[in-house]
This record gives sequence, C-alpha cells and structure tokens, in this order.
Amino acid sequence: MKGSSTRHNSGDAPEKRNGACVMIRDRQSVIDHLTLSNRSHPMKRILPLITLLLLISDANADAQKLASFQRVVIADDALPVQKAAANELIHYVGKITGRKLETMPLKVFQLSKTGGLSFFVGETAAAANGEKITLAPWRTEEWLLKTVAKGIVLAGHDEAGSPWSNVVASGTMLATYTLLDDHLGVHWFWPGEFGEHVPTDSEATVPTLDFRKKPEFEIRSIGLGYSSIYHTKTFDDAARKWTRRNRLGWARSAVFGHSWFDAFNLRTDESFKEHPEWFAFVNGERRPPQLCTTHPEVLDRMVEHVLNGKQDIMHISPSDGGGFCQCERCTALDVPGVMSYDGKTIQLSDRIFTYANEIARRVREKNPNKACGMFAYTFYNKPPLNIKRLEPNLYLSFVYQSASHRDPENLKQWRDSVAGWQKLGAKMVVREGWGNHYYHDMHMLHYDQIIASLAEAHDLGFVAAYGEGTKNFSATAPNYWALTRMLWDPERDTTNLMSEYFESAYGPVAKEMEAFFESYNSALTENWSKRDRHVDTTNMAYANIIAAWNRLIPIEAVEEAERHLKAAEAAVPDGDYKGRVRFHRLGQDYTRTMLELMDHYRQIAILGVKMDFFSTVLKERRDDPDSLKSILKKAYEAGEKREKLLLAHRDWAGPDEGLYAFTNDRKLRKWHSTVKEKLGFKHPTALTKEALQKK
Ligand SMILES: [Zn+2]
Repeated sequence: MKGSSTRHNSGDAPEKRNGACVMIRDRQSVIDHLTLSNRSHPMKRILPLITLLLLISDANADAQKLASFQRVVIADDALPVQKAAANELIHYVGKITGRKLETMPLKVFQLSKTGGLSFFVGETAAAANGEKITLAPWRTEEWLLKTVAKGIVLAGHDEAGSPWSNVVASGTMLATYTLLDDHLGVHWFWPGEFGEHVPTDSEATVPTLDFRKKPEFEIRSIGLGYSSIYHTKTFDDAARKWTRRNRLGWARSAVFGHSWFDAFNLRTDESFKEHPEWFAFVNGERRPPQLCTTHPEVLDRMVEHVLNGKQDIMHISPSDGGGFCQCERCTALDVPGVMSYDGKTIQLSDRIFTYANEIARRVREKNPNKACGMFAYTFYNKPPLNIKRLEPNLYLSFVYQSASHRDPENLKQWRDSVAGWQKLGAKMVVREGWGNHYYHDMHMLHYDQIIASLAEAHDLGFVAAYGEGTKNFSATAPNYWALTRMLWDPERDTTNLMSEYFESAYGPVAKEMEAFFESYNSALTENWSKRDRHVDTTNMAYANIIAAWNRLIPIEAVEEAERHLKAAEAAVPDGDYKGRVRFHRLGQDYTRTMLELMDHYRQIAILGVKMDFFSTVLKERRDDPDSLKSILKKAYEAGEKREKLLLAHRDWAGPDEGLYAFTNDRKLRKWHSTVKEKLGFKHPTALTKEALQKK
C-alpha cells in the first residue's frame, strides 16, 4: 500500500464509532503486529492461515481489560516528561472507562502486595514490572510499549525539560500516545476546543503489545501559523499539547535555514563595511545579502560558524532571494547553458554545492560529530552536474510542496530531482509548505498528495520532515490528519486512513462532512491546470496562483461545500460532533470571504489601482470609474468582515490573525489599506501586533 493514496472506502465499517472502534482497532493492531513479526522472522511466513487465525484469537483472549488497570507506577524522582505521561494516562484512561486510576510511587508499589494491573511509566518504574526487559541504552527518541503479566510497560529515551516543548525527547510520551491513539482510539484532531476525541467504553480492552522502535522520521515538525507572537496564550498552550500528543518533535539538534544573516552579522552591516570583498559581485559592485562562495575567507568563516554552533547540524544555506555572485571564480563553476527553474537564471547548484561540500569536508576533519544543513532551493534545487559525491555529513533540506504534485509533470520532476540527488549520496530531509501563506488560510486541501508524498519520501530514504503549516484547522483539518499520521508512521496501510478521520471526527454526519471537504479537494484537482504561468514552473509559485483563485476554487465549489455543511448542521446531534461542525462553519465563512476579496482585488488592479502582486501579474487594464467605485465598496465590506472573522475566536485553531497582522506590521500586501485609502476611510486596522497584544 505504500505510496498509495487510496482512501475512498468510507462506505465500510459505519459501526466503527465510539466504543465499538476500540475493539475493532485492537483486532487490527494484533494483525499488524503479527504481520510485523512475520516480516522479521521468515520462519513464521510458512505458518498456515489457520494457525495465524488461531494466533489472533489467542492474542485477543490474552487482551487486558482496560478497567482492570488500577494504577500508574512512577519513580519518585521521575522526569517532568514521565510525570506528564503518567498524568495523560490517568486522564484519558479515566475518560474512556469512567474509572479513576491512582498514581503510585515506585517505593510504595514495591512494599505493597497490590493486585490488579499497572501501567509502569518511565525507565525506573518500568524496571519494577516483575519481568526481565532490556531498557537503556536508548537511541534518540526510542520508545518501548510492552505487555507484561502485571500490566503494560511504557518507557523510552527521556530528557529533562518541559514535557510540552517539542525539542525535549521523550520516548515515554511517544509510547503513551501510541497506546492512547493507535490502540485506544483517542485522537487529537486540532488544538483547543472541539479537537479531542475520546471514545467512552467501560469494556475497552488492550491487545498484547510488544514494540521497541525509534521514529521513522528523526524530525517531525509542523509550524502552526505565521508567527506565534501574535497568538493568544490559550492557543499557544493548546498547540504545544497538540504537537506532543500527535507525536511530532524536533529532538534532533539541527538547523537548516538561511545562514549568512547570522554567520556574517548582516543585521549590523559590520562584515560588509569591513570586508566588502566577501560579498557577491553583482553588476559591477559588491553587495549583500549573498556572499562570494569561492572567497577563501568566506569558507573559513563558515567552517568556524559550524564548529562553534550550538547545534549538531548547523545551517550553511545562502540568503533567500537572488543577487548571487558574478565574479569570475564563482561563474567558472557554473555549467554553461544549464538553466534553473525559472528558465532565465543559470543553475547555481554546482557552485553552491562546491561551497557546501568544502565546508562539510573541513568540518568533518575537525569534528566528525558535526554536520551541515543545506537547502536544495530555487536556483540550486537541482543536482549539480560536476560533483560526484556529497560529503556524508551534509544534510539536504529538500524544499518542495506536495500540493503541486497535483500536476503529474511536477511529480515527475520531483522524482527525477530526488533520484539525481540520491546518486550523490545526499541525506535528504523533507522541507514542505503544507499550509503555506500563499493559500491565505483557505481550504487548500491536499491530503491525498500529503499521504502519497510522505510515504514515497520515506521509501526513498528521506530521514526527517518539517515545514510550514497554518493555524487554520477550521479549513484544513483533514490535511493535518493525513500529515500527523504519515509523519509518525509513513509505512502504515493508508487504505482507510481518511475515512477513519471522517468517521471518528464527525460520527453521524461523517458522510456530509467528507463531502464538504471533498467539494474543495476535487475542485482543486479539477482546476489545478488553470493556474497562471507568469513564472514558468510546475512548482508552487505565488505569482501563478495569486490572481487565479476564482478559477482554482470557483463559486460553484463553495456553494456545493455550503450545501453539505448546511446538511451536516441540520443533522448533527448536540455534543462534540456539533462543536466540530460549528468550528468548520468559521472556516467556511472565512474561505468564502477570502475568495470574494481575492476576486475584488484582482478586478481593482485591472481597473487601474495599484494592488501589490495583483498589479504585477495582471497585464490587462480597463478604465471604468463607476465599476471601480462599486467594487471598492464591496472589497471594503468584505475586508472588514475578514477582520471580524479573524478576531471572532482567537483561541480556536481558526484563520490566523497572526498571518494578517504580520503583513500589516510589515506593510506587505496592503490590499485592505489601499481600499480604505481610496474610499477615504481613516480608521486603523485592529490587527497589528500592538493592537492584538492589548486585547
Ligand atoms: Zn564570487
């Protein structure tokens, strides 16, 4: 099933709801487990089917009743992550069974002769389970989940530090959430209100479990929204918990970003004043922010930057944007006639990876434990032609967006490029834009592409995955389900992955809600080829979609989605499901408003008012003052409505007030302020960092 995105199987298992799903899931996980054992022990492959079936029923007979668990045993000096794991178990198992577990310090447990089953949480408590299990040494983030006669052991590689920080490793928490999510059906669809699903079932059972693993991707990280300085504390706290509960994390000490700003103090211009010769030679003069990557002193300084850096993998990528060096030494490394993605600029991969390889080699000679993180990006996103091998300590953060894989040509190019890099022995890292700001927090749904691409990336040897998400789960929750499931287990069977989401999240209105999201998903698939080609690329390009939204998601798709949402609203019973449908109403209203706005802005630009980006890509111009006035008024109303929607539920995982306020603070995309100016309105926006922090 790997790489497959088959998922339309929502017709089956309508009984998989609430308590019932716990039993079904148990059976499934036993089968998965046996399949795994078969893989590692070839002898078992010859077991006849009948024996396999017997094994399954035996395993079920051994399943422990969740309600038979009496307590959580934990070391007296347990780490914060272990205490948090214990509290999570007590909380969620209590909710499932309706019975409260007690916390028992290890010393008390060892002295008492208590009966019933226990959860042994964390390495020290785990050692007291009564059976011999090998625990430490652990690999990074390794976790262990094992059924024993006296209960279940949950342990792993744990670090000191906050349990809700994604850089603190906790195998014990990973084991805990694997038990709760994969085996007891607890899900965290989004941060905060309505996002949590706990099936109640006093008869729930736990199958026999025996896992000792480390995560498939060593980094699993999604940025939630544009900038957390704009979000409420309630949202931030909920987001951190959601991240941990979905088994995401960045425990590996690594940075991959643009590096020269830090490495050369570009903030203060110091380096440039003292050493203009280190900088890119562009149109006859030296200038920042790019550097001359063949200058020996630049290389020396970068080697020091990596060796002295705090992280194990230090970033060495060039600055963002263009303006690369045109000096003779640098251009001599380029391959004549080989162009980069835009068809206009010469490809820079050979010179940039000559630089990266040289730094990595010199770093490795001085410290074999240090590595370098590089982007494969823009003018150097394709493999170099004259370099035979990349240094083994060079990690390649491969920038792409699987949302563009809707275009088969783009998928083909992605595969070719990955294959090319792999020939050079690159250690590849997924660097995605799952919820890129290009999408303006609308229903940019691409769960099929997310599932397929992460399965394939893992198959192809990518070792980590990170990227941008959005705060707006009210529009894109299904993307996040696909994403968190695949980041955790890219080898999973994906056949029913999405139907499982719709059923557990929306219960009795699952069909309507699936149809609601599908209206957008299928519209995007159908219309993706209608995007512009201002930039000649199959990749995601801002210029190619900014003025094309009315073609990508036409009003008919919004109306179709609206009909399904209304049907769900009418049929949903009170409780969690109703809360979730209400949550998605916010997303629907926001997307409708944004689509109207994007089209108004497009027309306003055509009617001659300068609108950032729209005016650059649209060549068409018309002169019609009456139309302009009427569209300006409509755009004003919709723009004010957008601001109201952004402020309506800031604690929810809804449209990102931060993304919008960020643009206001930095005077980017000044669409609404331009409209107000044209109409003579003077009132300031309520969405700036300062205004939001006062609220
Ligand atoms: Zn140069």
